[in-house]
Amino acid sequence: MNLNNLEKVLEKEPKYRQKQASSAVFVNLIEDWQEATFFSLQLREELNKECPLSISAETLVSKTKDSIKTRISLKDDLQVESVLMLHQDGRNTVCVSCQVGCPLGCQFCATGKMGFKRNLDYFEIIEQVIFFSRYLKKENKRISNIVFMGMGEPFLNYENVLKAIRILNDKEGLSIGARNISISTAGITEGIEKLSEEGLQVNLAVSLHAPNDKLRTEIMPINKRYNIEEILKAVDEYIKITKRKVMFEYLLIKDVNDSDQCAEELVKIMRKPLYFLNLILYNSTGLFKPSSAKRVEEFKKILKKAGVDFSQRYRFGDDIKAACGQFAVLKDENVV
Ligand code: SF4
Repeated sequence: MNLNNLEKVLEKEPKYRQKQASSAVFVNLIEDWQEATFFSLQLREELNKECPLSISAETLVSKTKDSIKTRISLKDDLQVESVLMLHQDGRNTVCVSCQVGCPLGCQFCATGKMGFKRNLDYFEIIEQVIFFSRYLKKENKRISNIVFMGMGEPFLNYENVLKAIRILNDKEGLSIGARNISISTAGITEGIEKLSEEGLQVNLAVSLHAPNDKLRTEIMPINKRYNIEEILKAVDEYIKITKRKVMFEYLLIKDVNDSDQCAEELVKIMRKPLYFLNLILYNSTGLFKPSSAKRVEEFKKILKKAGVDFSQRYRFGDDIKAACGQFAVLKDENVV
């Protein structure tokens, strides 16, 4: 799929043609311009040549059938992964990638181990959502939520991520409410500052994963550049401007960040209005192990006692390597 030339192809056409084309792609979810019969045959052929709509992808479905992972091939033969999560309450969330690989090299993350290949352009981000929109259309369902928690750091590809969000949010297109879109950052403070000025109602999440700089630097090298104090300062400013809640994500990794002492340090960070903590059970990527159920309960007990506002995220797609930190390790034998 490549819509970069769409405006150019339609520039000699009346203005309403652009609207018709957008509606065909984002609302009717056509997979071939020949379906757009309101265009002349010649125009449809040119559109198919210059702006192909086909998406080349492999798909995996988890045993529980509640998560579907796709690996999309891009124009330069690189590949990018995204996941659709089907929640029991009816929400259908797509976890999208914004880069091929990631330059931040977090120790617990398979994507980080891949290194960084390149930024995705905004249509390559949207393509992931379109893929799953087409998938769900067959079941008369639609995507309700988007999370930028796949491969890559969104604030290192800020312009493309924001452009994609504005298109995803467009009422005349996919119409995904800004409040249903979340951006997760490892703490790039310039991105947090910029986002606060956008006037968008999107949600901000910060990957914290450690309650002090020493431990955070060990597992997230980016902490050397943006330490916890700087991140919290940017978050406080963001909250002051937007009045929006901020989610802090914390992976529970066995014998790394799951001690009572870590929980107590975390309590001190989290005791602020509009700070919300999301505990995530770690999914093994070979390097670290998840915390035991008993340890998780003990960790939670300390948070509860201190009155920390938190939840524990349901684990999707572990068997198809579609869970947090597992992108980039797709197993070919499960491809359907
Ligand atoms: S956890 Fe996120 S920021 Fe860290 S390496 Fe993985 S994709 Fe990059």
